[in-house]
Amino acid sequence: MSEKRSNSKNKVDQYIDLHTHQQPLDKDVIAVYNHLLHEKTDAPEGLFSAGQHPWYADRLPLDDLSKMLDQLVFNSNLLAFGEAGLDKVCNIPLQIQQDVFELQLNKAVEYNKPLILHCVKSWEEVIEISSGYPVKKILHGYNGTVELTGRLLLEGFYFSVGSAILNSNAKIRQSIQSIPPTSLFCETDTSQVSIKSIYTNVSDALKMEEDVLRSILFDNFQHLLEECLK
Ligand SMILES: [Zn+2]
Repeated sequence: MSEKRSNSKNKVDQYIDLHTHQQPLDKDVIAVYNHLLHEKTDAPEGLFSAGQHPWYADRLPLDDLSKMLDQLVFNSNLLAFGEAGLDKVCNIPLQIQQDVFELQLNKAVEYNKPLILHCVKSWEEVIEISSGYPVKKILHGYNGTVELTGRLLLEGFYFSVGSAILNSNAKIRQSIQSIPPTSLFCETDTSQVSIKSIYTNVSDALKMEEDVLRSILFDNFQHLLEECLK
């Protein structure tokens, strides 16, 4: 272990939960709460992402969504837009999902925010639609094959890994080894599994010491903050 790494290790004892729908309770977890705008509740207290989920893409007129995002950028705790994307398993017509997705891609470019992506059985469309937008795209709940991961890496995507990693047969158990650690985040999403246990399983799958992983993921998060909260 390099000296630089062991020095930073002492400072970095916090876990980063990049995407969660639960308010964090644990003091050593920095969580990014996902604020679903169709619920029209107040912005949360700590760091958050905000957007229109494809499942609820018909709940807000585009104009309203646009105005809400324009106002939220004045909140210094807004880290990212989303989750946004496409989901072919839900009942919302794809064109409506796409319009809402594109609006959020545009806002992400305009305000220099990353976009948390939700993608279910829509890889071709998500890759094609998002390719023209120079934003940091983070695929949340990622559980793709080695082949898909290679393709997404070429397109510059980042990956947030959640509770799927606990399943020894999950695709992510293999594909995570092809993801450069600097392109990786962890999350709990709606799962009751703790972020600590996700870190343990990710470090196991990567055959990496857990404190090294914690340090790398902390650095990744720092970069995200530097890029997006300026
Ligand atoms: Zn989510």
